[in-house]
Amino acid sequence: MIFAGCRKTGQLDLEAVETLVRGSMHRAGASVLGRLLSAPAAQTSPAPCACGHTVRYHDTRSRRLLTMLGPVEFQRGYFVCPQCRQGQSPRDRELDVEGTEFSPGVRRMMATVGAESSFQQGREQLELLAGLEVSAKAVERQAEAIGIDIEAGEQGEIRRAKQLELPEVCAPAVPILYIEMDGTGVPVTKKEREGRAGKTEGQPARTREVKLGCVFTQSTTDQDGRPVRDEDSTSYVAAIETAEQFGLRLYTEAWRRGWSKARQKVVLGDGAIWIWNLADQHFPGAVQIVDLYHARQHVWELAAKLFANDERARRQWAAICQYLLDQGQTGALVLILRHLRPDNEKLAQDVDKDAEYFARNAERMRYPEFRAQGLFVGSGVVEAGCRTVVGKRLKCSGMFWSVRGANAILALRCCQLSDRFEDYWESRSRAA
Ligand SMILES: [Zn+2]
Repeated sequence: MIFAGCRKTGQLDLEAVETLVRGSMHRAGASVLGRLLSAPAAQTSPAPCACGHTVRYHDTRSRRLLTMLGPVEFQRGYFVCPQCRQGQSPRDRELDVEGTEFSPGVRRMMATVGAESSFQQGREQLELLAGLEVSAKAVERQAEAIGIDIEAGEQGEIRRAKQLELPEVCAPAVPILYIEMDGTGVPVTKKEREGRAGKTEGQPARTREVKLGCVFTQSTTDQDGRPVRDEDSTSYVAAIETAEQFGLRLYTEAWRRGWSKARQKVVLGDGAIWIWNLADQHFPGAVQIVDLYHARQHVWELAAKLFANDERARRQWAAICQYLLDQGQTGALVLILRHLRPDNEKLAQDVDKDAEYFARNAERMRYPEFRAQGLFVGSGVVEAGCRTVVGKRLKCSGMFWSVRGANAILALRCCQLSDRFEDYWESRSRAA
């Protein structure tokens, strides 16, 4: 075919040739694989039936699988229980292909592309990169199934953490362990938002909140005394769930990362109340810090409302307030706000709210102290995480998620971005 093509056009189309050769190599490989899997020596002996009886050989049946080499057909023994008539193919269990038409290698590829981009794009990538033809729906199903399996493992760990049964971590003690949390909205299907109030009053919610947590460590500061995050030390957890459920999830992750042995512990977040409730409940003994940039944003947003038409005054006022904030003079800042007493009722409420916010979080805004200790005062890691872990994959235009689907993909992404997918996959093949 290749030489005929050359003669006809006088040119060698390399891409056409390499695709053609890869295709035929795959087909040759698939045929070898089919024979290997069908070899009598490779046949597995059956386990007793679930009902306890010994099963009997029934016949040899053929089976089709999509493998990394393309479709493969092979033969394996089929056994039936004489008591309850239940049939089984022990070979399928051994190969980890029970109830699926995809080989483990292909399922792993599908999970990898499905975690990274839309299922349709994943389908296209598999075709281009691996020469495999699958549907977008199949990518979705496999990626979800693996995400759900990862999550089931997590839930097992969380149960053990709840019962205080987690083993002590063997890793060396970390100098400083940080926990950051944040929430970010993900668009969900209509069904998932029925009966839920939205941000705008009277409107149903268009999104559901994903709670994201990250854990990382710090061992040192730079020459200027600024904190340095340990390279590759960040791990993530994320899910659409209640604060209570999420608290246990994050606690389990922190434990895994050496929480019990950390010399100093820090919880960083914005002003959201659920964050500090969880910090009090699950992370006692941690220094609590409100993200400085969120706090500054409160100042600037209030300034914009107070001095809507006077930019100079707005800047001056905000600069003074920001200075006080940066200096940890939260008391003075609250005093300024309390003395404002604007006539406009809505504005007065906003001022009250912010005064309350700074007063409530005063302890968490001792920025000069935190800085002197070489600690981070911004929650930039979790904010970046909101984009990389959640936004990039779950907030693309036209995407509407079910909670189940979103949580499966989040579990998968957290596992991958925390650099644990390899471990998961290994433990999975050991279990098989
Ligand atoms: Zn039986």
